[in-house]
Amino acid sequence: MVNLLIKVLGGGGEVGRMAVFVKDATMDKGFLFDYGVNFDENDRPVMPGHVRPRDLAAVFLSHSHLDHCGALPSLYVSSPPPVYATPLTLELADIMFKDAIKLSGYYLPYEDEEIKAVLDHAIPVTYGEDIDVANDVRAYFVNAGHVPGSMITILEINGARVLFTGDFNLAQTNLLRGADLGSIPRDVDVVIMEGTYVMNTHPPREEVERDFIKVIRETIEGGGSVLIPVFTIGRAQEILITLYKNGVDYPIIIDGLARLANQVVARYPHYLANPELYMKAVENSLEIAADYQRRSLTKEPVIIISPAGMLKGGAAVYYLKRLGKDRKNAVILPSYQAPDTPGFELLTRGRTFVDKSEVVLEAKLYWFDFSSHSGRAELEAFIRHFNPDTKILLVHTEAIKALQFLDRLRDKYGIDNIHVPTSDESIIVNAHR
Ligand SMILES: [Zn+2]
Ligand SMILES: [Zn+2]
Repeated sequence: MVNLLIKVLGGGGEVGRMAVFVKDATMDKGFLFDYGVNFDENDRPVMPGHVRPRDLAAVFLSHSHLDHCGALPSLYVSSPPPVYATPLTLELADIMFKDAIKLSGYYLPYEDEEIKAVLDHAIPVTYGEDIDVANDVRAYFVNAGHVPGSMITILEINGARVLFTGDFNLAQTNLLRGADLGSIPRDVDVVIMEGTYVMNTHPPREEVERDFIKVIRETIEGGGSVLIPVFTIGRAQEILITLYKNGVDYPIIIDGLARLANQVVARYPHYLANPELYMKAVENSLEIAADYQRRSLTKEPVIIISPAGMLKGGAAVYYLKRLGKDRKNAVILPSYQAPDTPGFELLTRGRTFVDKSEVVLEAKLYWFDFSSHSGRAELEAFIRHFNPDTKILLVHTEAIKALQFLDRLRDKYGIDNIHVPTSDESIIVNAHR
């Protein structure tokens, strides 16, 4: 029998700030799954709970979103542990670390030197790979289907199996194959899984896509331009490939960090569902290389894809100010908008403050559900994949919704093996092996 000690350092009853420490209670060192940061309304970082780098035998990084990787460099000051991730995640994380420093560098407990140290201690791994991490510790990696390079980790510590999903999507998108459930064993002792959308059912992607393309065509044919604020990683590429796949042949402009992310992803085509389609979509887009190009834009109708996804800074803010005043134009939000972000204010009040000046939106505003997370049906299917005696910890979720979800699973399937931990909870699990 193995006694596993699991400490939730972040992401307990909250979305993001993901960080979980796991160890065999009898061993000196343990393992860390993700070390993410959230940002408050003043762009100040909210760090996960503390862990001593010298207590870590290794770190596993699920993907490159800051709510999973953004606190990681703070551990690379002394006795740095190896970090396992796909090579694509490592390159994209480098971009995101530097962006985090730009956004709130003064408050972040790391600088360029620590970012470099993370990459110096990185060990690239890929889907299907089975590696020895330490004595009697092995790890196996599976596609998570969330963003390019995202992985699910299955860690075997002295025979006890722990699975960590990071963010995952079982459904296929234009950009990525769905998470590879078929490669995941059913007999796992502990599953630590995300539940962002435990109480949401995503509409069928074909419907979302059809309505999205319709809005774009109508706007451009009416003489207007379209601004699509996106997350740099994942959504920027999904939107680009969706436009190309649907034969949208108006000029497509890429700006901000999405330019860099698109190029990095293009160097790892085997991580994508349809590499050829993606490469053509990138070639078909125009990247803004200098300010004068940006200024000369929008005389003719164009489609602009640019971060930030919630309009918190980035080139998208510049375009919002320019395009937002004309009712011929459209602003399309294809992502979740957190409360108190400019994107959320536009959706709820039709106006917001950016760069200390008020934008009153005259352009039409739309929101579409291009989610890259599993919805409720996929989360249920995932849970039911495992043996009934598997201990399931539901993290990266709102506690109230998670408890409703647990009630539903109990009523519907008699499932009663799920726990929703808080963000400083320690759990002991006896793995019978
Ligand atoms: Zn996340
Ligand atoms: Zn994510």
